[in-house]
Amino acid sequence: MTASSPIVEFKSVTKRYGDGPLILNAVTLAAHPGDFISLIGPSGCGKSTLLRLIAGLSPLTSGQITVDGLTPADAAAELAFVFQEPTLLPWLNIARNVELPQKLRQIPADQRAKVRARALELVKLGERSQAFPRQLSGGQKMRVSIARALTLNPKILLLDEPFGALDEMTREHLNEELLAIREQQAWTAFFVTHSVFEAVFLSSRILVMSANPGRIAHEITVDLPFPRTSDTRLSRAYQELVAKVSRLLRSVEEN
Ligand code: ADP
Ligand code: MG
Repeated sequence: MTASSPIVEFKSVTKRYGDGPLILNAVTLAAHPGDFISLIGPSGCGKSTLLRLIAGLSPLTSGQITVDGLTPADAAAELAFVFQEPTLLPWLNIARNVELPQKLRQIPADQRAKVRARALELVKLGERSQAFPRQLSGGQKMRVSIARALTLNPKILLLDEPFGALDEMTREHLNEELLAIREQQAWTAFFVTHSVFEAVFLSSRILVMSANPGRIAHEITVDLPFPRTSDTRLSRAYQELVAKVSRLLRSVEEN
C-alpha cells in the first residue's frame, strides 16, 4: 500500500439497524494515514454508528468500507476504541487495567509489562500504576483509558467523545497531550466531539454531519500547523476556523 492510499474508506455507505429507519445515508469518505478526523453534528446523527462501522462492531447495510485494505471485521486488530466512559475495572489497579487488552490477546507477561509502562509514561501516569481507579480524577481515568488503547499499538484510534465529561481546563490539557502522543505514535484518528474548539484544535479535517438520515454535510480542512500548543488557540487562524465550523454546525442543526 502506498502512503497516499486511504487507510479508511467509505463508498456510499448506508446503515439501518434491523428494518428500522435509515441512520446513515450515502456516506463517502477517505482517511489517509496520519489524518486526524473529527466528526461533529447533532445528537443522533450517527457519529457513534459511523465509528462502530469502522470497528466492525456493527454491519453496514449497503456500500463498501475498507480498513487498511480489509473488511472492518478482518481489520479489527488494527484499531482501538476509546469511549466517553473510561470503563476501568474498579478492583484492578491502573497497571492491571492498562494491560488487560494485551492479556486477552495472550501476550506474555514480560512483554505486557514493557508495553504497559511505555503507555503509562505517554499519558504521564507512570508514577500511579499501583493506584486504583477510585483514587484518580476524571481526567486521570481518561488518560488510563487512552493508555490502555495505546497498548494495542493501533494503526487507527477511534475516540467517541472521550473528553465530553471533563471540565474545560482538563479537556484542553488532554487535547494537548493527545497531540503530543501522536507525535510519537503515528495512528490515524477518528474523533467524535460536541466541542467545536476541540475539533479545530485537534483535527486535520472536520466532518460536519447532519441528521435524519445522518450524512456528511460539510468538510473543513484545518490547515493550522503542527505541533499545536496552547498558543494555537490564541491565533487568528484558529479563531476564524472555530467561527466557521460553528456557523456550519448551526446551519445543519437548524435544518
Ligand atoms: P450519535 O452518536 O450521533 O448521537 P448514534 O450513532 O448513537 O448517534 O445513533 C444514531 C441513530 O441510530 C439514533 O437514532 C439511535 O437511536 C439509533 N441507534 C443507535 N444504535 C442503535 C441500535 N443498536 N439499534 C437501533 N438503533 C440504534
Ligand atoms: Mg454518540
